Amino acid sequence: MRKVYRKKYGGDVWHWCENCSGWPKEDYTVRHYIPHNDKGCEECQKLDEEGKCQKKW
Ligand SMILES: [Zn+2]
Repeated sequence: MRKVYRKKYGGDVWHWCENCSGWPKEDYTVRHYIPHNDKGCEECQKLDEEGKCQKKW
């Protein structure tokens, strides 16, 4: 399954868990990968590892 990453405009952290407290709901950019110089969200990573990352896609 392909991940979808969201980053809020002006931010530098990409989220892929809609359960994340930082999950952008508006004013965000969507990518299918994290650009080289940007970071993945630590909370999303944690939720993902715990299996709490629910994805609709
Ligand atoms: Zn996140």
